[in-house]
Amino acid sequence: MNCPFHIMIFKNALHSYRDLPVRMAEWGTVYRFERGGVLHGLLRVRGFTQDDAHIFCRPDQMPEEIDRVLNFCLYILRSFGFQEFKAYLSTRNPDKAAGDPQKWEAPTEALRAALNRAEIPYAVDEGGAAFYGPKIDLKIKDAIGREWQLSTIQFDFNLPERFQLSYIGEDGQEHQPYMIHRALMGSMERFLGVLIEHFAGAFPLWLAPVQASIIPIRPEHYAYARQAQERLRAKGFRVEVDDRNESLNKRIRETTIKKIPLALVVGDKEAAAQTVAVRRYALGDQGSVSVDDLICQMQEEIRQKKTVSK
Ligand code: ZN
Repeated sequence: MNCPFHIMIFKNALHSYRDLPVRMAEWGTVYRFERGGVLHGLLRVRGFTQDDAHIFCRPDQMPEEIDRVLNFCLYILRSFGFQEFKAYLSTRNPDKAAGDPQKWEAPTEALRAALNRAEIPYAVDEGGAAFYGPKIDLKIKDAIGREWQLSTIQFDFNLPERFQLSYIGEDGQEHQPYMIHRALMGSMERFLGVLIEHFAGAFPLWLAPVQASIIPIRPEHYAYARQAQERLRAKGFRVEVDDRNESLNKRIRETTIKKIPLALVVGDKEAAAQTVAVRRYALGDQGSVSVDDLICQMQEEIRQKKTVSK
């Protein structure tokens, strides 16, 4: 876990109330010895990358920090095309909770208020919190309705106490900061697994490993195909040329099987006019377009992180 290390970094300097909030983010590699039988693709692995980040703030900053984190989570998940969310608010369990029950009230209410402001449906898991603080779990629904747990916003009363974290308040006295753990994606590997399931492998243009495959009809079109590839690559697009000695139909069919968003067919007509004939995954023939116009269209689609559905 990276939590103790972020705490040590925080403790490395004296903090005044003006320095807060301090926010630290890191992709951290962690290991968990899962039994062989429960390992499952990218969804359950033994070595993975967590995006646990930590916020150290004053009590008066806490509601705004919670709002920011929740909106950040929603922004990230929506950017990847997830639209349906369900949140769970886990509250204090009197039998195992650490610290003064009164301490739990403000953070629990801040989490609840942030959920209300974000206008996402949520359920309360009464007594479901860990001993060290209340939390929000964010679950998404993928394209076929399965629920996946991704983001977490976790309050922590325990670690600031155990590590004796402090900052100097306006009154010149030492105070204990709040500590919030937050994970946007949870585990990078698992997130990728959920994303692949969500899109059934057919990534939107901005995420596709190969965005376009250029298919020259005959060997005399190879040179033009390479030239078009260079122009697209120069703009940062991930583009292949499929100049294998296979039939045109077979090569087009393979772009569909590989779920490559764009198949760009070039022959005599296209070479003469500096165009490409566009076939879009799941949408079919889109007609001819100049390479310049295609670049503009692709840039715009990527800027919007558009999801093209069937
Ligand atoms: Zn943490």
